[in-house]
Amino acid sequence: MAATKSPQVHDKLVIARDELQGLFDALHQRGYQTVGPTLRDEVIVCDVIHGVDDLPAGWTDEQQPGTYRLRRRPDDALFGYNLGPHAWKRFLHPPVVRLWHAERTNGNYRLVQEEEQSPQLALIGVRACDLHAIRILDRVLAHGTPADPIYSELRRKAFIVAVNCEQAGETCFCVSMGTGPEMHDGYDLALTELIDGDAHYFVADVGSAKGAAVAASVPHRAATEDEVEAADCKVAKVAREMGRTLDTEGLKEMLYRNLESPRWEEIAARCLACGNCTMVCPTCFCTTVQDVTDLTGKQAERWRKADSCFSTEFSHIFGGSIRATPMSRYRQWLTHKMASWVDQFGTFGCVGCGRCITWCPVGIDITEEVKAIRAEDRARV
Ligand code: SF4
Ligand code: SF4
Repeated sequence: MAATKSPQVHDKLVIARDELQGLFDALHQRGYQTVGPTLRDEVIVCDVIHGVDDLPAGWTDEQQPGTYRLRRRPDDALFGYNLGPHAWKRFLHPPVVRLWHAERTNGNYRLVQEEEQSPQLALIGVRACDLHAIRILDRVLAHGTPADPIYSELRRKAFIVAVNCEQAGETCFCVSMGTGPEMHDGYDLALTELIDGDAHYFVADVGSAKGAAVAASVPHRAATEDEVEAADCKVAKVAREMGRTLDTEGLKEMLYRNLESPRWEEIAARCLACGNCTMVCPTCFCTTVQDVTDLTGKQAERWRKADSCFSTEFSHIFGGSIRATPMSRYRQWLTHKMASWVDQFGTFGCVGCGRCITWCPVGIDITEEVKAIRAEDRARV
């Protein structure tokens, strides 16, 4: 397919499946490192990928509380799965970062300038819920006071290739949270994958000037009205098939009214306080800081590491942890996501991706827990 005119923002283009490698090539030529979905250890993870051959062609995922498994699809869709355990914070807000290191010479420590530059990342395959999660991280880490320079720099340079979901996952509830499955902005290019008989192509929505410049280097043609409609229908179908729902009406107030609900103890009896839910959550951003020295005392380093409100150390103030029980930690996590986050940042801290449900080893389901607390609340009134 030959390009006719330079793409503009809001243009809808068609990129044939066999030309999709051109998108990777165009990004690489501009200095981007491409990260996206790939198969590893029977899971679709996000990692550095080099091209179309690294994508999980022909695979999909089945998810239930505490369960994730892959199965073959009847077609060769490249993005025919929902979500793996890795959220994009893995790349934009890395879980382990050395903040500084110092060397001791002549009895004094000297700070050594870090030489590694943050990479210019192209995120391939960002879903609607995860676009919203990135927006939440922007609000906290890039536009908060103080801003996080590491996140801000990675985010400023990033190129986002969003991909519309082609099926709703069993643990997804983005419709309830108002975060999907449609995408309206926040991407450079948004792709919808369509397979119709032998035809396999992507309808690409150009979301930014950067996206238009990259699209210009990829073989494409203008999409027809029928092709755009087919892409829209696909997204509408996903919305109808959503696996779970969560009633957000008056949710913040309802949770604040129920901080002493007996349900918290019932959850705690199952919760292992493992912190998986916070690690997979695309919006959980908490970190801790560790200082280390080598055995000779000549080197000192400060590391930032991902942390979780499920650890006792997280809330350690002088004399001990203020959230000593799993009950208090689970309650803190859920009420932060669904109530106090609204007071802090103006939105829920949950985008309905369902990862915490799938990857909880005992299958605790945030939508079921909110429903149970709401039922108790209604019964009292
Ligand atoms: S709380 Fe659970 S469903 Fe909500 S964004 Fe985090 S991982 Fe996804
Ligand atoms: S809710 Fe599940 S994933 Fe989260 S800490 Fe408890 S057991 Fe772990």
